[in-house]
Amino acid sequence: MRKKIVAGNWKMNLNYEEGVSLFSEIVNMVKDEVVGTQEVIVCSPFIHLPTVAKLSENVKNVNIGSQNIHQAESGAFTGEISASQVKSVGVEYVILGHSERRAYFAESDALLAEKTNAALKHDLKPIFCIGETKEERESGKFFDVIKTQLTNGVFHLSKEEFAKVVLAYEPVWAIGTGLTASPEQAQEVHAFIRETVENQYDAEIAENTTILYGGSCNPSNASTLFSQKDIDGGLIGGASLKSRDFLDIVKVFN
Ligand code: PEP
Repeated sequence: MRKKIVAGNWKMNLNYEEGVSLFSEIVNMVKDEVVGTQEVIVCSPFIHLPTVAKLSENVKNVNIGSQNIHQAESGAFTGEISASQVKSVGVEYVILGHSERRAYFAESDALLAEKTNAALKHDLKPIFCIGETKEERESGKFFDVIKTQLTNGVFHLSKEEFAKVVLAYEPVWAIGTGLTASPEQAQEVHAFIRETVENQYDAEIAENTTILYGGSCNPSNASTLFSQKDIDGGLIGGASLKSRDFLDIVKVFN
């Protein structure tokens, strides 16, 4: 059975103390809520990673993700961080392909394919984000956009490698805007993504791929979104900064 995941993306928020305190609250609240094939992931800024990874060490089904890595092994890349560096402090996941990185840091599909390779080489599981802009949705091109992002970003992987990837459908027009895809709109795209994965790999891989929804997900809309057949949880931005809201989203699975 595929994993159900609720992942928080703190983005560039919270100083060290605030982050550690929020994480401690989250762990206390969710530790008895995540059972079976469920998993909670917190993707904090780099400064919190060693501490939150330590705090999560003995908590079942709570894991830590990084929000980025550089594609190279090591070297003269001032200000960057490598897959092996984040792995060395206990990080399990990395967000790749987030629309903010694509838009503000010009991350191309080709670069994201390299980053995906670097992550997998160091046993970090990518949470690979795909999604269309408002214009692409309105012009009806969104299926093509999503297929291209998948093809160029992750479809070079072998079956064994792809099995470690979590996908996140994040319509760009819904991120941080308060606009959410309707459950029907989201389900339509999730079903398309699963079918595209099946065509590329096989039915078993497609059935086992976790596909998260992201974009203004909150405690009021999470249950109708997560009850859709092909939606396996969420990647949560704003609402992951409030422990109560994050907990309420995690509880949707119970
Ligand atoms: C995100 O940044 O991945 C995200 C989904 O943000 P928000 O929930 O704030 O829209």
